[in-house]
Amino acid sequence: MTKCIFCEIANGRIPSIRIYEDNDFLAFMDINPVTTGHFLLTTRQHYAVIHETPDELLAKALPLAKRLAQAAMLGVGAAAYNLISNNGPESGQLVAHWHLHVIPRRRREELPLKAGEPADLTKLPFVADAIRANL
Ligand code: 5GP
Ligand code: ZN
Repeated sequence: MTKCIFCEIANGRIPSIRIYEDNDFLAFMDINPVTTGHFLLTTRQHYAVIHETPDELLAKALPLAKRLAQAAMLGVGAAAYNLISNNGPESGQLVAHWHLHVIPRRRREELPLKAGEPADLTKLPFVADAIRANL
């Protein structure tokens, strides 16, 4: 069975540069940072994606991300930040252990984010209906 890199980081078998840890969470610097200060917040326990992660943990994750992101902005001199979570391989998730990217930002053009295109307003209500129907 292939080992999960982030479980190995959580249990200390793979080294990491940690900025925070408690009983539930671990935050450590991303090894391939998109910007200076880019770190990952993840759970100690293994959950592959956000919808498999217990609500009680997720309820703690955002307040913690907020605190860590503010420390990062002050610490590395950033004016803003992105919170990004990839869920599933098609989204670009490479490590199948749920995590939140905290990416300090200094300039709008730093990330290669593709701009959206104007929605087709004849179709958009049906897209919304399809989502609502599954709530
Ligand atoms: P994903 O695409 O799964 O959302 O992002 C995974 C992130 O984990 C990537 O940004 C990648 O650089 C980071 N990463 C992968 N392996 C390691 C590792 O062994 N140590 C650290 N610190 N980060 C890693
Ligand atoms: Zn894991």
